[in-house]
Amino acid sequence: MIYTITLNPAIDRLLFLEKTLVKEKNNRLSKVEYDLGGKGHHGSFAMSTLGVENQALGFCGTTNKSKLEKILKEKELNYDLVEVYGKPTRESYVILEANVSGSILITEKGFRVSSYDIELLTEKIEEKIQEKDIVLIAGSMPPGFELRDLEELLHVLKKKNCFIACDLSGTALTKAVEVGVNFIKPNAFEIQEIVSAENPLLENLKELSKKIDYVVVSQGSEGSICSHDGEFYQITVPKVVAVNDTGAGDCFVGAFLANLSLGKPLTETLAFASGCAASKVQYTNSTTFSVKEAKLLQKKVRVEKLQMD
Ligand code: ATP
Ligand code: MG
Ligand code: MG
Repeated sequence: MIYTITLNPAIDRLLFLEKTLVKEKNNRLSKVEYDLGGKGHHGSFAMSTLGVENQALGFCGTTNKSKLEKILKEKELNYDLVEVYGKPTRESYVILEANVSGSILITEKGFRVSSYDIELLTEKIEEKIQEKDIVLIAGSMPPGFELRDLEELLHVLKKKNCFIACDLSGTALTKAVEVGVNFIKPNAFEIQEIVSAENPLLENLKELSKKIDYVVVSQGSEGSICSHDGEFYQITVPKVVAVNDTGAGDCFVGAFLANLSLGKPLTETLAFASGCAASKVQYTNSTTFSVKEAKLLQKKVRVEKLQMD
């Protein structure tokens, strides 16, 4: 089984502007849409879309629970969330300007979780997770969830001997590296934050590869670089028109872990995950991608082994 853990869930509110964003002017919206938010949820959605069984774990606020649940049900996610009483799940605002590539993301901090809430989540995780499982922890940590709570969670998972994947950033990612997890996927900015802003990307990757079995450093339209088992790979992706790149990394991680769980070879897994993410960026919302399109794009992805000295 694959489990995803979203500690700081969100509902994505997509704001489609009639024109481009201009200060000191009324910026009218042409439409508003809602989509699933939270990086673990996005990963779960990618896996479910690929027909790979998984369950989304984490927290959810109770005051707007029906709003999040409506989206979870629409997206056909299998979930079991710890309810945090009297708090709303935050909204993340994704601003999409007319005829402009990419998106602007604005997020709320999220509700505060108590030590009791954290205990409930830990109990659930203790109960469910077994050695053969894959667990993805993704996204930010909510107020009240401290680094030592993450460390404890990681140790619970380490004791289970399951495969631990982390899509985290900043001090949380540093902690995951320190504890030693099986997979991380920092983007170009996130890796600079935790290793060095001066070193070339490949040097930073080399450094992380000493501690982590699978490292993928994603670079948006530039593709990614990966290290595993002493080997280094350069992944070049096809050119597509990117409408909304928010969630590209989440889609990549979901598809990567889904394929890995099916026992597919690494090079194929890297190409397929890149195909899925390249499909994703062509859609306006945070989650949608086409499996058919992904398979066509996969054929245009180049995975080359790098000769290292
Ligand atoms: P997220 O918003 O999900 O956190 P991220 O910043 O972690 O995203 P990116 O590096 O932006 O992740 O993208 C992840 C992967 O998605 C890239 O390595 C690439 O394979 C694919 N991708 C992203 N943008 C594009 C693009 N414009 N064209 C083709 N592929 C893309
Ligand atoms: Mg990005
Ligand atoms: Mg990311």
